Amino acid sequence: MRFNKFPICYEEPVFRPPSESKSLLLQVTIGCSHNLCTYCEMYRSKSYRVRSQNEIEKDLFRARNFFSSTTAFPRKVFLCDGDALSAEESLLLFCLEKIKFYFPAIARIGSYATASNILEKSPESLLRLKKNGLEIVYLGLETGSDSLLKKVLKDACAEEMLQASLKLKAAGIKVSTIVMIGLGGVDFLQEHALATAAMISKTKPEFLSFLITRPIANTPYYKMVERGTIKQLSERQCFEQMAAILQNLNLGGREFGRDHSIIFRANHVSNFLPIGGVLPRDTHVILETIRGAVVSADLRPLPLNFSGPM
Ligand code: SF4
Repeated sequence: MRFNKFPICYEEPVFRPPSESKSLLLQVTIGCSHNLCTYCEMYRSKSYRVRSQNEIEKDLFRARNFFSSTTAFPRKVFLCDGDALSAEESLLLFCLEKIKFYFPAIARIGSYATASNILEKSPESLLRLKKNGLEIVYLGLETGSDSLLKKVLKDACAEEMLQASLKLKAAGIKVSTIVMIGLGGVDFLQEHALATAAMISKTKPEFLSFLITRPIANTPYYKMVERGTIKQLSERQCFEQMAAILQNLNLGGREFGRDHSIIFRANHVSNFLPIGGVLPRDTHVILETIRGAVVSADLRPLPLNFSGPM
């Protein structure tokens, strides 16, 4: 797909999950309504705002005209920026309606959201969003540990993360949970793993992804690592934390008349090796892969400066 003449002028930087790499990105909001998490610098350069209906529709109109002259119509749309669900329900419904109007063949619409965004919406509001096409929400849980969530200034405590996930599921919206391996460093090695496993066991998201915490320059988190307040995990400890989460998952019980399963991925560029499968079916194989990797894994704390793309 050629993007050199792509007609949407995005307000950079723009981020999306790896699984939305082929999606049409539509900026509904700019920046992040929270913008305080100590490890995150994605939207620090932006002032949060909600875009107007006019701005959003212009983007869809231009994108439709662009794709009309190609054979590569997008199959998915991803609502940007960091928490598009912070927008009012009326604007989100407008976006969903216009997406269907300009791209009738779109198979899936997704968005990032914070727990606060979800908790601020009523169950009826989430049901209306689902009914009008919102299929999947990516929620940065990062950890199930309440004390670690507070330490990194996340917008929600563990109980709120739990309630937000369950609220999405009650509305029939698929949940993709993101976990940050290594968050909090050595002091949280065990607590992070066990609390995260307990949280995932309760929320049973449809998708689960792990990424490795890489301190980003100029963030408070980076400064804490630099000062030694947070001691980074080694590669081996990261693998051990991953294994501890997977080993302690309890996905028993049936949902909608069938056994629950989670599509698991650790294929973000921050990871040491791409791992994936369906849990619990592939848990054993994934753990074997991790055990194989642990043998040769580096024992030194991860370097402060990560050279790969994020
Ligand atoms: S809520 Fe998400 S996008 Fe916003 S500051 Fe935290 S991690 Fe970054």
